Amino acid sequence: MTATAPAPRTNFIRQIIDEDLAAGRHQTIVTRFPPEPNGYLHIGHAKSIVLNFGIAEDYHGTCNLRFDDTNPHKENREFVDAIQADVRWLGYDWGAQVYFASDYFERLYRFAVELIEKGLAYVCDLSAEEIRVYRGTLTEPGRDSPWRGRSVAENLDLFQRMRAGEFADGARSLRARIDMAAPNINLRDPVLYRIRHGVIHHQTGTEWCLYPTYDYTHPLSDALEGITHSLCTLEFEDHRPLYDWCIANCSVPARPRQIEFSRLNLQYTVMSKRLLTQLVSEGLVAGWDDPRMPTLAGLRRRGYTPAAIRDFCHRIGVTKADNLVEMGLLESAIRDDLDANAPRAMAVLRPLRVVLTNLPAAAPTQLEVANHPKRPELGTRQIPFGVELWIDRGDFSDDPPPGYKRLVPGGEVRLRNAYVIRCDEVIRDAQGEPVALHCSLDPDTLGRNPVGRKVKGVIHWVSAAAAVAAEVRLYDRLCQVPQPGSGGCDFRADLNPDSLRVLTGCQVEPILAAADPGDRFQFEREGYFVVDSDRTADRLVFNRTVTLRDTWGRG
Ligand code: ATP
Ligand code: MG
Repeated sequence: MTATAPAPRTNFIRQIIDEDLAAGRHQTIVTRFPPEPNGYLHIGHAKSIVLNFGIAEDYHGTCNLRFDDTNPHKENREFVDAIQADVRWLGYDWGAQVYFASDYFERLYRFAVELIEKGLAYVCDLSAEEIRVYRGTLTEPGRDSPWRGRSVAENLDLFQRMRAGEFADGARSLRARIDMAAPNINLRDPVLYRIRHGVIHHQTGTEWCLYPTYDYTHPLSDALEGITHSLCTLEFEDHRPLYDWCIANCSVPARPRQIEFSRLNLQYTVMSKRLLTQLVSEGLVAGWDDPRMPTLAGLRRRGYTPAAIRDFCHRIGVTKADNLVEMGLLESAIRDDLDANAPRAMAVLRPLRVVLTNLPAAAPTQLEVANHPKRPELGTRQIPFGVELWIDRGDFSDDPPPGYKRLVPGGEVRLRNAYVIRCDEVIRDAQGEPVALHCSLDPDTLGRNPVGRKVKGVIHWVSAAAAVAAEVRLYDRLCQVPQPGSGGCDFRADLNPDSLRVLTGCQVEPILAAADPGDRFQFEREGYFVVDSDRTADRLVFNRTVTLRDTWGRG
């Protein structure tokens, strides 16, 4: 499957790792992927997964899957499970153990005690709002909290009582004692611990009412796991001094190095978990795995393969430059994979009946066709042929535009893999709409060009007697503009109203009746399709993964 995927390119992070190894700073490389279980993984996370797990793979190191679960209010077990399933589906393995930042709560608490004992942390009674006001701005230094001078003994006592549950939410916090005048606002006595009563944590239950902040938890968790290179997105660049401060001031067993790279932004969709959550909770999509979502679960249901997503991540590379990647790049990755690997089939999405008026008695009832034009090893199959066929309504025109190469009254066209037919008569309903075409075939054109004339058009078809009915869901881009929600407007106004069109009564080759959810096909001349998980014993449902060519924006 991955035969066509290029070898991962080198990037500035791999160069740093090479230098570290050459200088003997590490024997083995340990990375981690640290999702917060407050939503499903999306294509942006895939960039981070492919980077972190890819480095571990190539350097024969390890990559930990660690849940960054310090905010129980928004996290839950469903997300923990979905994230694991998605990482595994992408093709990565985190070894015997899944890590949780919450596994370290006790040790993190002891590091906090160590900081207090060193005079490097204090219990502060300011409210969150007051802390914000005291913090100052980019141009003005902050002011010291009135509680900054508390004695070590008092801080230890209060911190222990915070843990014991004596104080209400927001009444007190533990803050690092760094520098209220630091030019970097992240160093102005950041909060390390906050009080949260009454939430049930998916891992630790009600054991804690004191929760460490991300900025405090992350470096220490990295250090406890012996992470060598902690790769994160650029918005954490300003947090790096705090990351290093935590490592330098706590007695940790290792010194991980944080390196930032730019996050993936993708056109025509949204990636913020807040907005994705909103799409789901407001019913604007059918769920986290709606095939229009940029989530891995959505892309999987849409028909994307893990190989195509990994290939896409390799194609975009890893840099520090902010970027907005064209949706066409993701689409071409799946198109290339499916073009090489998906078996072909014929499906008529908007059926129009064709009756062959001169089918010879000796004509074959089955035609043998290749499953893939370039890969004979994918074999052949029999497709039924008969007196009545379905063709696509769009392949017949009463009033053809210039250059139209398909069927017109009195005109000829080739049926793919079969004969040339001529449209002799159009049967119409009361409104004048065609309901059937009476056609004659040229018996000398099976696998041969007609003599004395050129027939340019080729259309697909299925045998009406043998075809199977199916529902086909034509998915398109989630949003109709490249940067939804830009300029401060509500991204919901940019949702594409035509992102899903459901066609019922489609007619497909009988062999497709045996297809299972997740099976992918190229429907000739239509695009790439996957069997949806809504498929049941008597209901066949296909999702369009992507069109054959990039025709977006061309109407
Ligand atoms: P939020 O914006 O809600 O904090 P997040 O996108 O940072 O969410 P996390 O679960 O914290 O989500 O992310 C896990 C890891 O994936 C982090 O290391 C993060 O930097 C990385 N990541 C998240 N989004 C992207 C993205 N768009 N491109 C690359 N990496 C990403
Ligand atoms: Mg995050």
